[in-house]
Amino acid sequence: MRQASVWARLLGVQGTIVEEVTGEEDEGGELGAVVVGVRLRKADAGRCGICRRRSSGYDRGEGRRRWRHLDLGTVRSFIEAEAPRVRCRDHGVVVGWVPWARHGAGHTRAFDDTAAWLAVRTAKSAVVELLRIGWRTVGRIITRVSAEATAGVDRFAGLRRIGIDEISYKRGHRYLTVVVDHDRGRLVWAAVGHDENSLHRFFDALGEERCAAITLISADAASWIANVVRERCEHAVLCMDPFHVVQWASRALDQVRREVWNAARRGGQRALARELKGARFALWKNPEDLTERQEAKLAMIEKTNYRLYRAYLLKEQLRQVFHLRGRRGCRLLDHWLAWAQRSRLPAFVKVARSIRTHRSSIDAALMHELSNARVEAINTRLRLLTRIAFGFRSPDALIALAMLSLAGHCPPLPDRR
Ligand SMILES: [Zn+2]
Repeated sequence: MRQASVWARLLGVQGTIVEEVTGEEDEGGELGAVVVGVRLRKADAGRCGICRRRSSGYDRGEGRRRWRHLDLGTVRSFIEAEAPRVRCRDHGVVVGWVPWARHGAGHTRAFDDTAAWLAVRTAKSAVVELLRIGWRTVGRIITRVSAEATAGVDRFAGLRRIGIDEISYKRGHRYLTVVVDHDRGRLVWAAVGHDENSLHRFFDALGEERCAAITLISADAASWIANVVRERCEHAVLCMDPFHVVQWASRALDQVRREVWNAARRGGQRALARELKGARFALWKNPEDLTERQEAKLAMIEKTNYRLYRAYLLKEQLRQVFHLRGRRGCRLLDHWLAWAQRSRLPAFVKVARSIRTHRSSIDAALMHELSNARVEAINTRLRLLTRIAFGFRSPDALIALAMLSLAGHCPPLPDRR
């Protein structure tokens, strides 16, 4: 192989002409960067950077430009080339298209895709350290990678059963509205805001024909969702998202735990108060996930505090309702409501009241056998992403990260198709 072809292959820029390779010294006089000068083939030159249409030349732009590329061994590398501007019929005067980088990017495509691939799969600190870039730069990279990935595909094809939810970010100060596909267990849409306007934007994007094809929509008890759904998808069945109903019970359980703990503290039962404080996770977790220690904790609560144990059993049985589903689930829910009503636990009496208010949409969720697991898994991962995305400046980067991670839009590593 000729040396220029070896370099082109090594950099993943086949089809581009490698003109020269130079080493640049760093401050210590060592090799700090490898700069690879390239030139476009005639067929690729003079195209619009946005639409790739052949366009007439405009000027030389800002002369030679550099794009940060993947490291070569242990050394940083850059691709350098002329970046002339063209005049596109649709896009006006823009920098011409280059095959190795996205329009307007300071990093190569291979670098962008690697950063996105890592951001989806590994810890923030690992991405930043491995690629030697700031987290905000990662945010900008995944925003453009996601924009390109979602532009080329029909995200809404075959959508029948969807879940609508809101999720908080910026430590609970801001919200996203998210839409998931129940059948494929994927995120399909996310946008800033949690009100009727933001949800209208989703149905606008979906279009009338596809709105009519939606058969079932799950959501929490929020009235803004119910209002918009009634208006835009009148034939769809609105189901109460089981996740939220179980969450009501989890919150009620936590309230009982706090009451019992406060009473123990005030009553001077210090040992009991300490035990109860440490029992939080044992009460929260699904019984099948408990560690031995947590199981022992629960057994202790059963013996020493039946009031709290009763609250725990109520939470668990409500979970069981959605596990059973169908008619058996509805029947168990009847029993549950009666039990909660006479439980003498005000927090659970309140949950029972909310369930009665929303009974028809809860029964709809049970009868349509709406599975909780997929949506719950997406919600859990989304919450994790909002924490990872905290350092990004704009919510667009959070949405981009969510689309790459949970909608299946993440590109493969360079050259691994
Ligand atoms: Zn164009």
